[in-house]
Amino acid sequence: MKPSLDIIENNQGMDRRQFMKYALAAASTASIPNISGCAAFSSKLPPINLKRPFILKNARIIDVIQGIVLNNYCIQMLNGKISTIFPNNEAIDPSIESMDMKGQYVCPGLIDAHCHATITSVFAFHFFQGWRHLRQQEANFRLCIESGVTTIRDVGAMRWVLEWYIERINDEWIPGPRVVYCNAMLNIKGGHPEVNPTDISYFANAAKPFIGIPTVNFASTEELKSALQSNTQRASFIKLTVDSISAFCKANLKIPEYTDEHLKMILECAEKKSLPIVCHNMDKSGFDRMVNYPIHSLEHIVTDAYLTDKEVSDFAKKNIAVIPTLAVGQSFSSHEMFDVFPKKYQTDFIENEIKIRHHYLTKESHKHIDASFHKLNMNTMKYYQTVGCQKMWDKKIFLGNPNKTLGLLKYGTENLKKLKDAGVLIGVGMDAGMPFCYFGSLYRELELLSRVGFSNKEILRAATYNNAKILNMSNEIGDISKGKFADLVVYDKNPLDDIRVCRSPKMVFKEGKVVFATL
Ligand SMILES: [Zn+2]
Repeated sequence: MKPSLDIIENNQGMDRRQFMKYALAAASTASIPNISGCAAFSSKLPPINLKRPFILKNARIIDVIQGIVLNNYCIQMLNGKISTIFPNNEAIDPSIESMDMKGQYVCPGLIDAHCHATITSVFAFHFFQGWRHLRQQEANFRLCIESGVTTIRDVGAMRWVLEWYIERINDEWIPGPRVVYCNAMLNIKGGHPEVNPTDISYFANAAKPFIGIPTVNFASTEELKSALQSNTQRASFIKLTVDSISAFCKANLKIPEYTDEHLKMILECAEKKSLPIVCHNMDKSGFDRMVNYPIHSLEHIVTDAYLTDKEVSDFAKKNIAVIPTLAVGQSFSSHEMFDVFPKKYQTDFIENEIKIRHHYLTKESHKHIDASFHKLNMNTMKYYQTVGCQKMWDKKIFLGNPNKTLGLLKYGTENLKKLKDAGVLIGVGMDAGMPFCYFGSLYRELELLSRVGFSNKEILRAATYNNAKILNMSNEIGDISKGKFADLVVYDKNPLDDIRVCRSPKMVFKEGKVVFATL
């Protein structure tokens, strides 16, 4: 018999969050080998008493707002926050404990403004591999910390699972970033991402009430109304998807869009609950439509047309941020996608990106993803040749529409440069959770932005200060100044000179505690 939520919620005094807590805790401690061990904190991390002042001395502080280094500084922390910053030559109270940074570079913790932490970056889900998914989910959070990411904005999650992990992170069972989230994305049935969980797993329907699915799939205004109520619980924003063209390979690429009435209902709810609206959009038509609404950010970027100077300057006046997620485009871009690679994508830039993608997927990605998931992802790419894009959807193979992924590199990069030059607030995220977009590799987005023409100063600022603004958290995170959380990443070289330095943090602090160190 299918378990009833009413029984769980009413008769046993246990809600879904509690149920998840006990079920997943039991799974991870009793029946799943290695789960806790693989993501636990290292016992060698230096302990810091948060209740007493603690000084990081001889630090080179990276001022991400001005893009400069403050040499020979001390950072004093208390209660998980930065209590003061002062030059090294000022006398230090000898009773205050300290750590010598030995002239290393201290940067504010990075922020990933677009990811899906409960999604495991693989094309398929098999019930009997459930433990691998749990292990990968846990690794996703740990990999954030190890790559210097101390805050993430999750833009579509299995909500009950996500909340369970957040609790475990807060209880310090596992290392993980601070998480800002929206629960599921609010998509119209058949709208992006039009794949239903039941399309990829028979198990999905039974599991849905307990784990949550990352999409809503409303079909009527009534369903939207109730989704708006439940999906906004504890959420920090509302995530919409406004594409009109499928992001997947299929013959008829058109997908359903919100009606004006839907958008009106969503806006009313957002206003009433003071929730910002965050919009997935990769199409020019979605851009043209949503620019007229009071939205907070556009996720991804227009992939099917160059924006005109007028469109860019009009957009810049609207105060809408853009998180381009170029790496998701690069992650799928490959010669395998076509029998004959279209001329319009034959550029030096795209050829170079395909090479860099190949290098990542063959030489670096093993640090970030379960080996069997990665193998499956690599094998899945062969369907472009064996089945062909037109027929994949009918065969339930959900590979990306090449014109979107390559379009992100061709049109998206040019549009992005124009938007940046027009003063649009640009953030950083890479859609980690998608196949080939593995957690722990945000550096790929940073380095891609560099190849597109962003300066290192612009990139670091986007990944910290700009992202903090995009998360509406600039009073708490995003730079190293008094009163902010002591979320810090330590590098042995200056990332303002070479952004590749961000690949290897030496130490990471979250709220004043060392959560990662290469000891
Ligand atoms: Zn996404």
